[in-house]
Amino acid sequence: MTLTNWAGNTTFHAKDVHHPTSLDELRRLVAASVKVRALGSGHSFNHVADTSGDLVVLDRMPAVVEIDGAAATVRVNARMTYAELAHRLHRAGFALANMASLPHISVAGSVATGTHGSGVAQPSLAAAVSGIDLVTADGSLLSLSRGDADFPGAVVSAGALGVVTTLTLDLVPAFELRQYVREGLAAEVALAHFEAIMSSGYSVSLFTDYRDTRVWLKREEELTDADWYGTTAADGPRHPLPAMPAATCTPQLGVPGPWHERLPHFRADSPPSGAGDELQTELLLPREHAPGALRALFAIGDRIRPVLQISEVRCIAADDLWLSPFHGRDSVGVHFTWIRDVAAVMPVVELVEEALAPYAPIPHWGKLFTRWPECSEPFRALARRLDPEGKFGNDFTRALLGE
Ligand SMILES: Cc1cc2nc3c(=O)[nH]c(=O)nc-3n(C[C@H](O)[C@H](O)[C@H](O)COP(=O)(O)OP(=O)(O)OC[C@H]3O[C@@H](n4cnc5c(N)ncnc54)[C@H](O)[C@@H]3O)c2cc1C
Repeated sequence: MTLTNWAGNTTFHAKDVHHPTSLDELRRLVAASVKVRALGSGHSFNHVADTSGDLVVLDRMPAVVEIDGAAATVRVNARMTYAELAHRLHRAGFALANMASLPHISVAGSVATGTHGSGVAQPSLAAAVSGIDLVTADGSLLSLSRGDADFPGAVVSAGALGVVTTLTLDLVPAFELRQYVREGLAAEVALAHFEAIMSSGYSVSLFTDYRDTRVWLKREEELTDADWYGTTAADGPRHPLPAMPAATCTPQLGVPGPWHERLPHFRADSPPSGAGDELQTELLLPREHAPGALRALFAIGDRIRPVLQISEVRCIAADDLWLSPFHGRDSVGVHFTWIRDVAAVMPVVELVEEALAPYAPIPHWGKLFTRWPECSEPFRALARRLDPEGKFGNDFTRALLGE
C-alpha cells in the first residue's frame, strides 16, 4: 500500500514500514538497517520524514505517561499525540505551557521540526523538552538531558540523529483561558501596533488574506474593550478559514475553559474540516522585522491570494536549540495555508521567499520551502559524529547539512 503524508502531497519511498513493539526490537532493527528513519503522525508537508530504506512507526510501542509532580515533568513515548497527552495531564492538574494549532500531531515529530504555537513569551514546543532518549545508528540508546553538551542539538533534529523513543517535558499547573475572535483589524493598525496587539494575550494569532485581518486572542482576562484596536467581536464561532464551519474549532466567544481546549485552534475530538485539502509554508523571522515583512507581503497580496487559503502570523520566544528557527531570536512566524495544488503554489512560495529574504527568514522544517539557510555548525558536527554513515540521512537532511 502506498504510504503518504497527511496532505497526500508526499509519497514515502521506504522499502519497508516497521511497527516495533519493544525497545529491543527497535534497537535490533536500527542496528541492522542500512537506511532508517522514524515517521511521527505524518503531518509534515515535505520529505523530511522520508527514507529509501526502513521507515519506523512507533505506534505499537508501549504507551508511557509518567508524571513527576514534584519535578513538574512528564515522560512520554515518542508517538504520543499532544491530544492524548493533554487530556491526561489536565486530569492530573497539569498543563503544557503551549500547544500547536492542531493537537493530533505526535510529540517526537513535532519537536523534531520546531513546531510552535503562539505567544510573545512562549517558546516552541521543543523548548519544553528537558530530556530525550534516542536509538542511535549502532542501535545503542543515548539519553540526554538539559545541561548535557549535546542536548541543544538533539531536540529539534529533523530526525537526523536517531529514533527518539521517549521525551521528558516541562509542565505548569493547569490553567484556564478565554478565546476571542476579533474581526476587521485594519492593516495599518496591525502594522503600527504589532507588538502591543501580539502582547495582548497569552497566545495571539493574526489571520489574514492580505486584505481582511482577524485576531485570535487567547487570554486569562476578560476582554472588555468593545472597540479593541478598531475591531468588532465575532458574533459567533469562527474557523480560521472564513468559509469553513467552526464545528471543529475550540470554543470561542470568551467562554473560559481549560488550556488544552483553548490553545489549539482545532478540537482534539475531530479532525480539522478540510482535513488534508491544503499545503503549508511558514517562514520564521526575528520579531523586530514583523512590520517590515508584513508590509512587503501586503504589497504582493494580489499575487499571493489566488493560491492562498489563509495566512497566520504568530510570535515565538527565543530558545537555545541549535537547529531551531528560534535559536537566539524572539521570532515572528508568517504561515501560509495554500490550496492543494503544488504546481500553482510553488512559484508563489518562491515569490514569498524573495519578498521576505531581507528579513533573515528560516523555514519551518515541516512545511514547503525552496531556500535552505546555512546549517548550524554545531548541529552539523553532531549529526556527523552520531551518524557518520548517514543511516538516518535522506534528501532533506543532505540539503539541510549542505552535503
Ligand atoms: C493541519 C496542520 C496544522 C499544523 N499546525 C502547526 C502549528 O500550529 N505550528 C507548527 O509549528 N506546525 C504546525 N504544523 C506542522 C506540524 O506540526 C509539523 O509538520 C510536525 O512535524 C508534525 O508532527 P508529526 O508527528 O506529524 O511529524 P512527521 O511529519 O511524521 O515527522 C516530522 C519529522 O520528525 C521526525 N520524527 C518523527 N518521529 C520521530 C522519532 N520518534 N524519532 C526521531 N525523529 C522522528 C521525522 O523523521 C521527520 O523528520 C501543522 C501541520 C498540519 C497538517
